Amino acid sequence: MSDCIFCKIVEGTVPSKKVYENESVLAFRDITPAAPVHILIIPKRHIPTMNDVAPEDGALLAEVLLTARQLAQDEGIAESGYRLINNCNSDGGQTAYHLHFHLLGGHPLGVLVE
Ligand code: C5P
Repeated sequence: MSDCIFCKIVEGTVPSKKVYENESVLAFRDITPAAPVHILIIPKRHIPTMNDVAPEDGALLAEVLLTARQLAQDEGIAESGYRLINNCNSDGGQTAYHLHFHLLGGHPLGVLVE
């Protein structure tokens, strides 16, 4: 997707602070951090939203989530706790239409849902 900002980050034509990369997954620090640790974890392949994840993407999605789990360990927030968020479409607050999960932590995040 030529106009997708995260595809450009994957290609390297838009800079990012990468924290992890393999063949299918990339993780980089959010440019507008909302917490001391704020990392975005994305599949390299362009999938616009969570609605577009197909059953055959299960292994890829698992890899994204396992990357988040490992990064929480690496960033030292696994024990204190963290939040892993996907915003889907406009009511969900999605602004970048390339599937991504926000890994947030490093201080108390407050209650989102009661
Ligand atoms: O979930 P949502 O789509 O709102 O999140 C997109 C996120 O991508 C924002 O937190 C924004 O700061 C981040 N971003 C980024 N680097 C860019 C463009 C956006 O980290 N070049």
